[in-house]
Amino acid sequence: MKFFENVAKKVFNKEGIKILEGHVAYSPEEAVAICSEMGVPVVLKAQVLTGGRGKAGGVKFADNPGEALKVADEILGMEIKGEKVKHLLIEEKADIQQEYFLSISIDRSERRPLIMVSKEGGVEIENLAKTNPEKIIKYYPQPLIDFLPYEAREIARKMEVPSELIGPMGDVIWKLYNVFDKYDCEIAEINPLVLTPDGLIAADAKLEVENDALYRHQDLVNMLHYKKKAVDFVKLDGDIAVIGNGAGLTLTAMDMIKLNGGEPATFLDIGGGASEHVINQALNIVLNYDPVKVVFLNVLGGITKADDVARGVINALKQADREVHIVIRLTGTNEEEGQKLLEEAGIPYEISMENAAKKAVDLCNELKAKE
Ligand code: GDP
Ligand code: MN
Repeated sequence: MKFFENVAKKVFNKEGIKILEGHVAYSPEEAVAICSEMGVPVVLKAQVLTGGRGKAGGVKFADNPGEALKVADEILGMEIKGEKVKHLLIEEKADIQQEYFLSISIDRSERRPLIMVSKEGGVEIENLAKTNPEKIIKYYPQPLIDFLPYEAREIARKMEVPSELIGPMGDVIWKLYNVFDKYDCEIAEINPLVLTPDGLIAADAKLEVENDALYRHQDLVNMLHYKKKAVDFVKLDGDIAVIGNGAGLTLTAMDMIKLNGGEPATFLDIGGGASEHVINQALNIVLNYDPVKVVFLNVLGGITKADDVARGVINALKQADREVHIVIRLTGTNEEEGQKLLEEAGIPYEISMENAAKKAVDLCNELKAKE
């Protein structure tokens, strides 16, 4: 069974191989939220089980959340070698000085594992294998005895890496072999393993586990159960972003906007019990949606706590890189604390939904009159 890069990387990392900070996104909006939170620049990578994504346009970079939205939208609609892209891995962009190739597989004719490495890794590895096979170093470890760190260093030396890298490179090769052995792999591969100012990092990861051994690795299979989406987001035609907790309340807020002559730009339900983090994420999504002129945040705290909402709002506004016009209605659980936090941060709020909706529409009309 083949595993996606994001799962493979977690497994490699568990065995001590360095990876970059990364998060999975299922929609362009989620990609924006992740980028805003991580800071940029980032790399966005199609999660498919085939290789060659880079050449097929499935690996792209973004320098700001707006770019991330565009790029994520492009990649999520793609098909790579017949496989539809359903999710992305978003990582901080590595500052690459050199790309190496490390691969461990089963050589069936030799009936034992085969380690292959090269100091010329990256997307051209298949061509290199054809044109310059001598640049790929092969080593057959003894399957019945332990693969030892000195053997791994010997491989690194044959790779002709700079002398100060022989130790660290040997260490990664040894750890990758441990992954291969421990997880009953058919393939464990890092292409490229990249040299950065922070050392050697796995920038890609391939992991294939022998099907008959899967029952021993339920932990891997469990990692395939993806998390549920945190927010429900629908784009509409207007210019007032409506965010609420709970579908009913959000729909009511939209009706109130309409009643006052406004047009909603979004329906965004943050759900019950939304954390500070989710609020921050929701605001980042709408703030990166261009048609939005005014944000109407309508929260009636129940399981959702007003003070968490206030903290999420304050953080999101601090990080925003554009002027934000927001009208907040905040009441319910912990309202005193939440309202106090907003006051201290100099952010006005309303108690009544009717007043807040009217204020949002008026504000939007004012802004449009100025344009
Ligand atoms: P593959 O084409 O499916 O093997 O996808 P990879 O994950 O190997 O990415 C392809 C290529 O994109 C790599 O060989 C790198 O040259 C480049 N790449 C991937 N991640 C990064 C990154 O974080 N920073 C930079 N600068 N390049 C990257
Ligand atoms: Mn690769």
